[in-house]
Amino acid sequence: MTTVSGNASGSQGDLPLDAIVIGAGFSGLYQLHTLRNDHGYRVQVLEAGDGVGGTWHWNRYPGARCDSESHAYCYSFSDSLTREWQWSERYPGAAEIVRYLNHVADRFDLRRDIQLNTRVVSARFDDDRHQWHVKTAAGDTFVARYLITAIGCLSSANVPALAGLDRFNGQWVHTGAWPHDGVDFSGRRVGQIGTGSTGIQAAPVIAETAKQLTVFQRTANYSVPARNAPLSDEQRQQQRDNATAVRELMRSNTNGHPWSINSESALQASADERAARYERMWTDGGLRFRAAYSDLGSNAQANRTAADFIKSKIRRKVRDPATAEALCNIDHPYGAKRPPIDTGYFETFNRDHVSLVDLKSDPIIEVTASGIRTESTHHNLDIIVFATGFDAMTGALLSIDIEGVGGTTLQQKWADGPCNYLGIQITGFPNLFTITGPGSPSVLTNMPVAIEQHVDWVTGCINHLQQHGKTRIEASDEAMTNWRSEVNTAADATLLPTVAHSWYLGANIPGKPRVFMPYAGGLGRFREICNDIAARNYDGFVIS
Ligand code: NAP
Repeated sequence: MTTVSGNASGSQGDLPLDAIVIGAGFSGLYQLHTLRNDHGYRVQVLEAGDGVGGTWHWNRYPGARCDSESHAYCYSFSDSLTREWQWSERYPGAAEIVRYLNHVADRFDLRRDIQLNTRVVSARFDDDRHQWHVKTAAGDTFVARYLITAIGCLSSANVPALAGLDRFNGQWVHTGAWPHDGVDFSGRRVGQIGTGSTGIQAAPVIAETAKQLTVFQRTANYSVPARNAPLSDEQRQQQRDNATAVRELMRSNTNGHPWSINSESALQASADERAARYERMWTDGGLRFRAAYSDLGSNAQANRTAADFIKSKIRRKVRDPATAEALCNIDHPYGAKRPPIDTGYFETFNRDHVSLVDLKSDPIIEVTASGIRTESTHHNLDIIVFATGFDAMTGALLSIDIEGVGGTTLQQKWADGPCNYLGIQITGFPNLFTITGPGSPSVLTNMPVAIEQHVDWVTGCINHLQQHGKTRIEASDEAMTNWRSEVNTAADATLLPTVAHSWYLGANIPGKPRVFMPYAGGLGRFREICNDIAARNYDGFVIS
């Protein structure tokens, strides 16, 4: 066992590392860049994977592609990086994003402070010295003033505890931990469980080579065509020309995407106007369909107009009427669960070797040695693909044994669900910053924009402490309680909490406390709140 420490470039006297960052995805790379390259702190990044890339390092399932547009799904902190990098398609595929993040790691000389293949298993706060002691699975200890988790919101894979899974003689895989040497579906009978954003991307691609594909659907889902396509040189030039304006728009609007939400109400438009608008947005494709009207996310009646439009499209696409009805039997408002976008998802069910099992009417009983038994049928399978999502927002944090002041663990602190201040700090866990933690806008936005905001704020906060000769910051209990109600109030103004079974509420994980986790008040508003708190000497934090 080794203990790793070192002197900051004069910044913290004889203290060890200034900061330990867990994770080398979008958040961790930028946190390292800004703390070390911009401000000279000594930083160590610890990454469990054997490469940088975070989410995109692990999610290499067939069809893995970002739903944000490529020119917006990237960093904006460096104009020269923006000018240099050429995206190839409207939406970036997983492999291209991994290439981009590797380029960033090289471009900003980040690798020398990233230790790969290093899983953090525990972290303990030394209350006397104001330091975090971080232990890895290999038994090494790292010590630093600040601990910053950059471990992603969707990184703890959820494999449902299906009876008999251990007896299955075939292969099973989870999309969020996809084998890096791939999975060969050719000539195989594949069962896919899950029809969220991931499952809707994976099914059409798996169907291209599988002998047979059976999709097990628990909750039917909306999806709008992505309309992915290669980018022309002209489009790329246009994006570069508009980069500054688009960056300002994304930083100030609700969801961090490069478009504004139409300010008109769906209910004030005539039926013909609405149909024409939805048709236009459908043809354009992508997540921006949600921006067709101002009230789709907040008014159930307005939302129904969009939901009915999408269902009418699904019915037209799917030839078998029973399958079409099962796909349209959607029990929640459009966008109230994270809405997928797709490339040929519904059309896939027109292929002879693809079928849908509606688990609402025919639930899974067990996995057998040779497949999956539902109430009515045994499905013979060679491979089971779990596209069953994640223990979102808290799963990865709680998988590390984090011990704060007085030996209280994060598991104990969050026994009734996550509670923090601004998504970033928890009472009793001084000097711990959780990038895009629960209570932040993160998953309701275009992630890199939200990540840059959170990271910049943390860096500003550490600079503030440094400049004032302080070594400890901790959210007050009152600030944390007030932020919880702010998060609830923001959610209650939308249709999001009306869906009982969404992962936003933790409902996809048996036994997880039901707390609406992301901040739904919008990224622009969140940024203003954070800036205001910083300007008022970090109001709500206790600094010493
Ligand atoms: P998800 O949205 O949680 O979907 C999981 C699917 O598995 C759902 O259909 C769920 O059904 C089903 N499921 C879970 N447990 C099950 C069980 N025991 N039996 C049967 N079905 C079960 O997960 P995801 O699709 O991986 O997406 C998670 C999030 O990652 C997305 O919402 C999005 O934020 C992000 N993501 C983004 C992209 C992108 O940008 N391209 C791609 C993929 C994912 P229920 O709905 O009934 O729970």
